[in-house]
Amino acid sequence: MFSYPEAFQAWLQRAENEELLDRVTVLRDELEPEARSRIEAELANRGVSPADVASHGAAREAECLRRVDGSVRRCWRCQALATELVRRWWKLYGVIPIVPVARPVCREHA
Ligand SMILES: [Zn+2]
Repeated sequence: MFSYPEAFQAWLQRAENEELLDRVTVLRDELEPEARSRIEAELANRGVSPADVASHGAAREAECLRRVDGSVRRCWRCQALATELVRRWWKLYGVIPIVPVARPVCREHA
């Protein structure tokens, strides 16, 4: 079993740049300070400049959905940042449509 730092380091090595950029920008408040600094160091190692981080953050901030309390909404299917609400049917036993519901979705699942 991995301890927290080893598991985090393994995740950090295989994470895509976009996921890391999301974490240090719009999801910044959800990170512990050490995790934030490690992600920023990893991005710098990959050649991502602070200006790139800032421009990514501005673009994502403009498109992501937030709750009334300011927290970021996640896609109901994959937990990525949600960019829009779509209407889907809530289905009894996953088969019988009962009531329409608004679901937050990412760009991929829109
Ligand atoms: Zn998604």
